Amino acid sequence: MRRILVAGNWKMNTTAASGVELARGVAAGAPAGESGVDVLVAPPFPYLVPVKEALQGSVVQLGAQNAYFEESGAFTGEVSVDMLLDVGCNAVILGHSERRHVLGETDEVINRKVKASLAKGLQVILCVGELLDDREAGRTEAILDEQMAGGLADVDAEALKNVVIAYEPVWAIGTGKTASPDQAESAHAHLRKWLADRYNAESADSMQILYGGSVKPANAKELIGQDNVDGALVGGASLSAENFLGIVTAAT
Ligand code: PEP
Repeated sequence: MRRILVAGNWKMNTTAASGVELARGVAAGAPAGESGVDVLVAPPFPYLVPVKEALQGSVVQLGAQNAYFEESGAFTGEVSVDMLLDVGCNAVILGHSERRHVLGETDEVINRKVKASLAKGLQVILCVGELLDDREAGRTEAILDEQMAGGLADVDAEALKNVVIAYEPVWAIGTGKTASPDQAESAHAHLRKWLADRYNAESADSMQILYGGSVKPANAKELIGQDNVDGALVGGASLSAENFLGIVTAAT
């Protein structure tokens, strides 16, 4: 049985004070580990430390929204994997569509970040997903294949155990337009088959594949209820403890 993960991507939102308040609210309502549902929040870099403190004593895990592949040195503005581990991060989101399409990250750069994170034992939440044009042109699966092959190049089956995949159709992110449960299930089943072909059945069966794209308390149950959907990566709705916990409850 795969565990469920509900992860909140706060993006470039909150202040130190509102982030701490949000983290406290999530920590207070998160279910115990035996529920089968894990909960993670990913605040902006400057708030990782106060949010970690706010999560102290709770089961909620801490994630970062990005990491750089070099260990240290003259890389102004970047944050290394060691730094994330140093402040208590459990995971890092890589390959988010905003990093791909707004900040121009390529599969090659994402792959270097994936490998650097896995080499240090930091769990990777690798995001993949097609643009609306790709979907309309029938290229969804080809794009997913390309992003999976690029992001996971040179990642072996052992290292893959510390990877979670997030399927996030770009047209559904922050738009209020959610993929239908069938569309999500079909993409997730395709991703699992890709993993079985590229790795093996065991790697594919054990992989957590999250859905992301306008997930809310009202649609979470049906989406996460699909056979191949193992949780959610939540943007907008993760900025309210009530909404985020509503999704966690729907997943439980
Ligand atoms: C995201 O940014 O990962 C995301 C899924 O955003 P939203 O839930 O706002 O669509």
